[in-house]
Amino acid sequence: LPVVAIVGRPNVGKSTIVNRIIGYRGAVVQDTPGVTRDRVAYPAEWNGRRFTLVDTGGWEVDVAGLDASVAAQAEIAVERADVVILVVDATVGATDTDERVVQMLRRSGKPVILAANKVDSRTQESDAAMLWSLGLGEPYPVSGLHGRGSGDLLDALLEVLPEVSAVANPLPADGPRRVALVGRPNVGKSSLLNQLAGEGRVVVNEIAGTTRDPVDELIEIHGRDWWFVDTAGIRRRVHKAEGADFYAVLRTQQALEKAEVAVVLVDASEPMTEQDVRVIQLAIDAGRALVIVFNKWDDVDEDRRLFLAREIEQELRRIEWAPMIRLSAKTGWHTNRLTRALDVALDSWDTRIPTGRLNAFLGEISAANPHPVRGGKQPRILFGTQISARPPRFVLFATGFIEHQYRRFIERKLRENFEFEGTPIEISVCVRE
Ligand code: GDP
Repeated sequence: LPVVAIVGRPNVGKSTIVNRIIGYRGAVVQDTPGVTRDRVAYPAEWNGRRFTLVDTGGWEVDVAGLDASVAAQAEIAVERADVVILVVDATVGATDTDERVVQMLRRSGKPVILAANKVDSRTQESDAAMLWSLGLGEPYPVSGLHGRGSGDLLDALLEVLPEVSAVANPLPADGPRRVALVGRPNVGKSSLLNQLAGEGRVVVNEIAGTTRDPVDELIEIHGRDWWFVDTAGIRRRVHKAEGADFYAVLRTQQALEKAEVAVVLVDASEPMTEQDVRVIQLAIDAGRALVIVFNKWDDVDEDRRLFLAREIEQELRRIEWAPMIRLSAKTGWHTNRLTRALDVALDSWDTRIPTGRLNAFLGEISAANPHPVRGGKQPRILFGTQISARPPRFVLFATGFIEHQYRRFIERKLRENFEFEGTPIEISVCVRE
């Protein structure tokens, strides 16, 4: 299905517009906390045309106040869309941030529909007209709150919406699988890459006639090829000394964008740090399959081992679904276990559950463990559907607010039933009030 991304600064009213478009009057959209909060996809339909609506959650303008961060967030969203809806708050007018994003959108060459939000009455339509200055063509005045104008906006969207998505699967579906080695500096990424390349061999750096990025390396391990993406930073060790956290994050995100599975390395010989946890979160946010590697195991003594077990219990409980491997990039110990873990994680990442099976499962668990009664009402899940694989994303439609705990329960049951080892899964709930 074609993909429509909705972008805009925080508080311009994106979510209310999203709710309008997905067609649930007064809908409340719930996302699973701690899971891919910044890109949530919904099935949408207008005049018989179906598409996937991706809510980008709003770029964080105040993260270090950096222009680059603004652009990077929006750029990733735009790369993955066929059409972009830019939401601007008409009562505020075009800000500098809006203008920078417009420049980026224009460079992307993607069709952009401009939504002038918060035009709650006819008298405010002149506010919307001011936004012609952005140079994106006609601003469509809408009121997310009252639903005003969304029909015209959607009509305009359909005019530029392609029949077939050019981006829905940006990663090649065949060929060697794509792996990103990530982790904070000095955890042993380059050592592991060298160890793996040494066991097999680096097959090529560039293949004639292909446009492969030369920073990707094809490595043969036990007779099978794997792409290790974005290895330039690992090999060259750029920016390492600069301590520029922001660039480290950006680099990691870029590598993750190109990969199907993330291998997050952690130095097992040292206490785990916040940065380790953060890199893991980046991998989850990027929606990649995930394998955790505890490296430098040759340097781990009994005390450290016990302490690490406690750290894992505390810090990594949320991701107990990820395969965890102990190895030593230096000695090569257990590095042969990596590819099996990658396969397991990628299989889960690729999983598609047929709608019939999913709803049979949902029916069973809600019959056996119904949602608790709240305020005299019992929210029920009416229907669920998996809207994508890689990673698996689910949307559940419910009659009332589904509590956090119950959503976690559903996630746990989904994992138990369908073996999602090594993949994040995303569950959104649409509520009809
Ligand atoms: P990167 O910054 O993540 O690429 O980390 P490097 O591969 O450059 O490794 C950083 C340091 O850790 C180097 O001094 C390596 O020799 C050392 N190192 C990497 N892997 C291991 C390991 O398995 N065991 C031990 N003892 N040291 C390691």
